[in-house]
Amino acid sequence: MASTSPKTFAQDLPTPEPETPCRPRQPYRFSTLCATVENPSQKDQYGSSSVPIYQTATFKGVDGQYDYTRSGNPTRSHLEHHLAKISSAAHAFVVSSGMAALDTILRILKPGDEVIAGDDLYGGTNRILGYLKTHGGVAVHHVDTTKPDTLLPYINPEKTAMVLLESPTNPLLKIVDLARIAADIKERAPNAVIVVDNTMMSPYLQRPLEHGADIVYDSATKYLSGHHDLMAGVITCNRDDLAKQMGFMINAAGNALTPFDCFLLLRGSKTLAIRMDRQQATTMLVAQMLDRLGFKVHYPGLAEHPNRDVHERIADGYGAVLSFTTGDKALSERIVGATRLWGISVSFGCVNSLISMPCVMSHASIDPATRAARGLPEDLIRLCVGIEDPADLLDDLERALLEAGAITLTAGGDSHQRYVRTIPSEGTAISRAVQKLAFNESAALTTERNEDREWFVSAPGKVILFGEHAVVHGVTAVAASVDLRCYGITTPRHDGKVSVHFIDIDGFTEEWGVDDLPWDAVTSVRVGDFHPDTLDQKLVDAITTRALSPEVIAKPSARQACIAFLYMYMIMAHGGKRPSVNFSARATLPVGAGLGSSASFSACAATALLLLYSRIQLPAQPAPTTNDHIHVSHEGRRAIPPAFAEEVNRWAFVSEKILHGNPSGVDNSVAVFGGALSYTRPGFGRKAGMIPIQGFKSLKFLLTDSRVPRNTKQLVAGVAALKEQEPEFVDGLLNAIQYISDEAQRALADPQLSRQTLLSALSALIDENHGYLVKLGVSHPSLEAIRSKTASPQYGLSTKLTGAGGGGCAVTLVPDDLSESRLRELMAALSTDSFVPYYTSVGGSGLGILSPYNQPQLLATPPETPREGEASAGAIELLCDTFAGKATADLTAWADNLGRWLFV
Ligand code: PLP
Repeated sequence: MASTSPKTFAQDLPTPEPETPCRPRQPYRFSTLCATVENPSQKDQYGSSSVPIYQTATFKGVDGQYDYTRSGNPTRSHLEHHLAKISSAAHAFVVSSGMAALDTILRILKPGDEVIAGDDLYGGTNRILGYLKTHGGVAVHHVDTTKPDTLLPYINPEKTAMVLLESPTNPLLKIVDLARIAADIKERAPNAVIVVDNTMMSPYLQRPLEHGADIVYDSATKYLSGHHDLMAGVITCNRDDLAKQMGFMINAAGNALTPFDCFLLLRGSKTLAIRMDRQQATTMLVAQMLDRLGFKVHYPGLAEHPNRDVHERIADGYGAVLSFTTGDKALSERIVGATRLWGISVSFGCVNSLISMPCVMSHASIDPATRAARGLPEDLIRLCVGIEDPADLLDDLERALLEAGAITLTAGGDSHQRYVRTIPSEGTAISRAVQKLAFNESAALTTERNEDREWFVSAPGKVILFGEHAVVHGVTAVAASVDLRCYGITTPRHDGKVSVHFIDIDGFTEEWGVDDLPWDAVTSVRVGDFHPDTLDQKLVDAITTRALSPEVIAKPSARQACIAFLYMYMIMAHGGKRPSVNFSARATLPVGAGLGSSASFSACAATALLLLYSRIQLPAQPAPTTNDHIHVSHEGRRAIPPAFAEEVNRWAFVSEKILHGNPSGVDNSVAVFGGALSYTRPGFGRKAGMIPIQGFKSLKFLLTDSRVPRNTKQLVAGVAALKEQEPEFVDGLLNAIQYISDEAQRALADPQLSRQTLLSALSALIDENHGYLVKLGVSHPSLEAIRSKTASPQYGLSTKLTGAGGGGCAVTLVPDDLSESRLRELMAALSTDSFVPYYTSVGGSGLGILSPYNQPQLLATPPETPREGEASAGAIELLCDTFAGKATADLTAWADNLGRWLFV
């Protein structure tokens, strides 16, 4: 909408000369005016093409044009001339901030005067008006200026001294008919001064002096300067009397802009038009995306925006600020926190994009009751769009919405259409409590269904690629998911019993009468609440002593898995539901080999129980596609919303605590989220925590289980003892491993790196890291044997131990060009030496759920309890029966072919 045709400005200040005799010169277009800073009456003595900074407080001599910088400065004069030129103004003043500009303007008022102001103004404007009201004897009437008639009753020809307007308003982007209000006021109170805050638009998009305003001010901290590197305010006006008054005040108070900031503002203003063009074009795209997703969006560029026609009459563009609501303040906070490219900042107008929540940031100074009275939603998010690539901005916002749980995937495909809003109805009145209630209601509605069907879930194992052992001493470890998975199925029973079947632990089965469990020891975790940080030891003890038989107690792995399952089964129970159910689990990954089998078991058990209890809902049924049997790791990726995954991850961590005592959280995070992450323990002076490695490229590895038992605790203690004896030596090794981790992360996330370079860099890092682990004393002859076999000349591959070492597993990087026959030959050779090699890819999908939609076999309700090896009654084939009978090697293909899987 921004005009490119020559404009006739109200005040025709001198622009570069001369007229040519042959062809009359047209007035310059706006962007030309912006870029040409020239004041014919102020020529530079050396012809400098950029206005010099007169960094001086005083000027020598008498009767000169300048004597003291508070009163005047050549750099400032240049800037003021330039700003007047692009604002259609006869006079311009630059002061130290937007608020200083308003303060200067408000000094025109006297006690007893009345001001009419908008009710959706910038928070700082309200603050200063509030001060005037209580200390300056000025009456202020806040009215809805979007309806010009609402001003009429407040106009008093004797007392109305000023009308203060903003359009579009910030942050609701309400449109005010500046021209109509100016005319109304002039007619009824000719002495009233009409003041417009034009910050949201800048002179490029709107020049209110052309529409009847007497004074216009801008916070030049925003678009006029454009880079958030200075604070400034600009006042423009055409009336000499007002200019004289304000010029007097600026000189008297000394709030004029400093020479250096004048220079910066002058420089920034040259690119105003080009920045604005880009910013508002992208804003339209963002507004359209949010609108399409179903959010309530406030942006004058959208067809439905109230008073859009008024805006189009007055302004030349829609601007680069928009706001939207989500229906839930906490959800909005999560969205704001989840963006990366959109910086959380109170301001706008910068070349960088910003995101904020006005009610907790820029408008926090307005008390909540007033905010509510003025219809300012607490969940409002304001977006201020910068000049970054629009695709990156849209992508980052979409990711944040997804991560926060505001949108969810509906079907495959790459267009934005695949996401929809997760909260269907708008309304700021929806409090968290009401939402919880709604959630419980929907849970109650579906509980029956969830209990009556089988749930088939899976989660990947993990491999530590770099940094094991060193991680205990504060070094960053790199972990990634492996394509070997644990699978779990819940199957309804109808005999009042709950049972488990752990197929990999020697086919372990056990069952309990639901009512015989120690329910008196349970303090259940309510739906929507988090499990406390520490385990409920009372419940763990009650399960151990009152539910487990001595035979189960005597089998440590099965015992801990039973406790973890029963603990979650009991503590998650709500609404009087105690479903009779069987849980079967098995894995294609070696159990107890340091590949995170317990975490993937935990993720499976947690997911199955959360679904069973309807504590978490899958997104609505995805739209049908033509391709219902696509391989798992592609079709359903990212179909499980992040909020769902986070809930699973919290419970998987609880289960891990039961299985391991003091887990780091890395294994369950990888099991749930898949991909790869770096992890640094807290307390070592480095940035601690888990960070996903973005853009991780799937890599092929040979994972070889040495089948030698290891004792993690002993190995970790061994490294600690060595560190104690030879601190310098061990610290040197730890530093070297940190370097390897850093390098690996950099390489894995570098989109510029060619595949070939990445693989050879990783090979070198693998060999180097293994060398240090040997020096730490955690390798083992069988691991060295695996290493030398893979490194032998016919393969030339790099291998390192993974996890605790001392037996356990080795990882060998498989380059893309290794032929399949060579690989098979190597695997056969390793098997001959009694090792168990697995060919797997690393960095793939996380948690998976066999989609319950359109899959009748999951709805099968067994008429009686299924027993191992015994066909269920009737013609119903239960998944858990086939599951238990499948060969491990066939498990993945069978599961994949059952139907569509939804993945994190
Ligand atoms: N007017 C509007 C609309 C604003 O958004 C702001 C600041 O955010 C101001 C005025 C005040 O400007 P400054 O911060 O430069 O004093």
